[in-house]
Amino acid sequence: MKYSYSRLQCFENCPLSFRFRYIDKLEVEAFETIEAFMGSRVHEALEKFYIDRNHGKIASIEELIVGYNDLWKRYLTPDIVVNKEGLTPEHYRIVGEKCLIDYYNRYKPFAIGKTLSTEVMVNIDLLGDGEHQFIGYIDRLDAVNDGVYEIHDYKTSQHLPTQDQKDRDQQLALYEIGIRQMWDDIKEVDLIWHYLVFDKEIRSKRTSQHLEDLKQEFLNVIKRIEEAEAKDDYPAIESGLCSWCAYQEHCKLKKHQVKTKQLPLNKYMTEEGVVLANKYSELKAKEKEFTDWFEGEYNQLAEALIAYAKKEGVEFIYGTDKRVRVAIKEALKFPAAETPERQKLEEILKKDGFWEDVSTLNIRGLEKKIQEHEFPSQLEKILKKYATTEETTRLTLSKIKEND
Ligand code: SF4
Repeated sequence: MKYSYSRLQCFENCPLSFRFRYIDKLEVEAFETIEAFMGSRVHEALEKFYIDRNHGKIASIEELIVGYNDLWKRYLTPDIVVNKEGLTPEHYRIVGEKCLIDYYNRYKPFAIGKTLSTEVMVNIDLLGDGEHQFIGYIDRLDAVNDGVYEIHDYKTSQHLPTQDQKDRDQQLALYEIGIRQMWDDIKEVDLIWHYLVFDKEIRSKRTSQHLEDLKQEFLNVIKRIEEAEAKDDYPAIESGLCSWCAYQEHCKLKKHQVKTKQLPLNKYMTEEGVVLANKYSELKAKEKEFTDWFEGEYNQLAEALIAYAKKEGVEFIYGTDKRVRVAIKEALKFPAAETPERQKLEEILKKDGFWEDVSTLNIRGLEKKIQEHEFPSQLEKILKKYATTEETTRLTLSKIKEND
C-alpha cells in the first residue's frame, strides 16, 4: 500500500471514515466548497507566476491578478457550495485577490532563490528500505543557497496556527524526508507556510532527531492501520470534523440524523427513532427532577435525624413500625486515586507485603486495556480466555450541538 500524509491523518481523525474512503472506496457525491475553490485558484495563479519566473519573466502585480481572475471566471460553476450565510462567491474572489496582492508586495522583486519545481510530487521511502512508501505534493520547492532548500506551502484558510503548532507539523517534515532522499548536497531545509489571508509567513526547521522521531510516529500509525485491517475493526470517532464528513449517511453515529433531517416535519415527529429518543429524553428529565427533589428531602431529613440523635444521645430513633439507626463514628479517609500521596501509600503496602490483602482487580480497567490492545498480544490472548463475550447496552443522553 502506498501511504500519504492525508491517508494517515484520515485514520487518526476517524478510523471509520478511513475505512469508508480507502478500504470500501464508497462513492460519495462530490462537491466543492467556495473556500476550496478560492484556494485552488490562488495556488494556480502562484504556480504560473513561478513557472514564468523560471523562464525569466517576473509578472507584474496586475498580470498576476488578471491571471487569477481569468482562472476564477473559467472554473466558477453554480454548483460550488457557499456555506457561510450572507457571503457570495464574489466575496471570496476578492479575498483571494487580496491574498495575492499582499503576497506580491511582501516578496517583490522575487530576487531570492531558484524555484526547482511547483506542485512537485515527492516519493518518500520512510525508512529507506522500500517497505513504507509515501507520496506527497509540495506547492513549491526552492533552492536558496548552496545546499539550502525551502519547501513552501500556501494556505488560504481563515485560521492562523501558532509557531508551536507549525514546529510540530508533520506534513512538510515528511516531505523534507523525501527531499533529503532526492539529492546528496542538502545541508538545510526550511519549511515555510504562507498564511495568505493574514499576510503571514511561518518558518520552521527540523533536526535529524525530529525527523527520526517523526518516522517512528508514522510507523506507529501504520501499525495501527494494519491492526485495524487484520481485525476489521475501524471505530468511529465523533469530532468537529463530522460536519464535513462525506460519509455521514453510512456512519452509525450520523446516519439516523441524516435520514431524519430530510423528512418533512409531520413525518419527522412520528419517525420511530425520533419518538423513542424524545420519550427517553423526557423520562430522563423527569428522573432528574425527581432525583433533585429526593436528594433535597433526603439531606434535610438526614440532617434532622443526626441532630436529633446527637441532642438526645441515642443511636436508634423509633418510628411506628421501623426504626432508624444513626451510627456516628470516625472514619479514615485516604488520598484519592492517582494523587502522589495515594502512590506513596500503595508503595508502602507493596513494600511491606500487604498489597495483595487490600487490592482487588479493576475489571473495568482490565477490559479497557484489552479493548485498546495495551497488553502484549500473547498476554492478551491468555487473558481473553478468562473472559466471555456478551452484548452489553448503555444508553446516554446528550445535547445535539448546533453544528452536529
Ligand atoms: S461522520 Fe464522523 S464519526 Fe462518522 S465516519 Fe465521518 S468522521 Fe467518522
